Amino acid sequence: MRALVRRVLRDVVDLWLPPHCVVCRSPGAVVCGSCLAPLAPADRVVEPDGTDGSLALLRYDDSSRPIVGAFKFEGRRDVARVFGPPLALLLDGLRPGPVVPTVTWAPTTARRRRARGYDQAEVLARAVAESARLPVRRLLRRSGGPSQTGRTRRERLDGVEFDVFGSPPTEVIVCDDVLTTGATMAAAASALRGAGVARVTGLVLARTPRW
Ligand SMILES: [Zn+2]
Repeated sequence: MRALVRRVLRDVVDLWLPPHCVVCRSPGAVVCGSCLAPLAPADRVVEPDGTDGSLALLRYDDSSRPIVGAFKFEGRRDVARVFGPPLALLLDGLRPGPVVPTVTWAPTTARRRRARGYDQAEVLARAVAESARLPVRRLLRRSGGPSQTGRTRRERLDGVEFDVFGSPPTEVIVCDDVLTTGATMAAAASALRGAGVARVTGLVLARTPRW
């Protein structure tokens, strides 16, 4: 109940106050011009992660880390409003498939979703789908393994598994906030392929330069 009240109050604040920059706190924009300027583009490299290609917008570095952190840990869902449209534009670079792809997300753990009041990957997926005018659907559910945050690389590579809801469409775009080891995206792709999805594309806000 307290979490719900906190969330409702936050929504009221979001509605009635002009945003302040998630990085430097200056008023007026979700991310101000000074904090947007140093953001570096991610390398658009096809990752060996079981997808047909993963697209990333930002390099995950000292400039983008506070933005991702605010999005994940400080309740700043409005970060998705800023980066949804450019992420949608990245999809223009995809080879067109025979069908319209459906956007989904790699869900965070139920515990983290409850604590934060939202799943940042879902918020991002919905913003991307809205901008790209693509259908969006919940397709994945965590089937085990603890959250990725705070775990070693080895643990991260091991622990994530997903189940697929119902019968998925043939082409899917999986959104997530950060691509680090690629383990989460690989697990999502593996589950979707196992359920008959023919083409899986990863789409992330930021990726680490090397891992
Ligand atoms: Zn700023």
